[in-house]
Amino acid sequence: MRSTRQVRRPWCWARVVIVGVRTWIEGWPVYRQLTGTDPLGRGTAAQSPKSKTLTARTETADKVAKSVCPYCAVGCGQRIFVKDEKIVQIEGDPDSPVSRGRLCPKGSASLSLVTSDRRQQKVLYRRPYAKDWEELDLETAMDMIADRVLAARDATWQDHDGDGHPLNRTLGISSLGGATLDNEENYLIKKLFTAIGAIQIENQARI
Ligand code: SF4
Repeated sequence: MRSTRQVRRPWCWARVVIVGVRTWIEGWPVYRQLTGTDPLGRGTAAQSPKSKTLTARTETADKVAKSVCPYCAVGCGQRIFVKDEKIVQIEGDPDSPVSRGRLCPKGSASLSLVTSDRRQQKVLYRRPYAKDWEELDLETAMDMIADRVLAARDATWQDHDGDGHPLNRTLGISSLGGATLDNEENYLIKKLFTAIGAIQIENQARI
């Protein structure tokens, strides 16, 4: 009587082994690179089953906002991709006549500037002679700055020079802006500092 269990014949096993070896070789990127349509190995030849299913964050974004890199005075154009009201990617803007889609490594890392959990969110203050920083609420910090501005202005105000020419200025206050300030912020800083009599107003991007 014949067994219900199927018995593979030897030629059948050989076929299974050959198919297995063939699948293994075809799964090898170098083989696909040498025999397929991707001789440089930068496309399908280098694709794994997982990477075949991946989609760029830029393709699934809900909206794209155009902006300018905040770091330096070159002003490269950026595209900011937003999904679920969160920034998911920042890339160079090909429409920008300044940068034509390019960003330097600093500009390419703009996403971290916005989303990093190491971003400082609180005002820190180190009192004279203190070893440690302490957190201040913004209102307290703003009051402290205003007190110091008024005191410095009172102590260093100059009405006239030695020959009686009007000066109406203070050399006791100066401003050095950082490169992440944008045009609008720099405009307001220049306006404020000029109004309080400062003449030493500079930005890091120009130094
Ligand atoms: S930091 Fe880099 S990307 Fe940003 S504006 Fe300057 S050159 Fe362009």
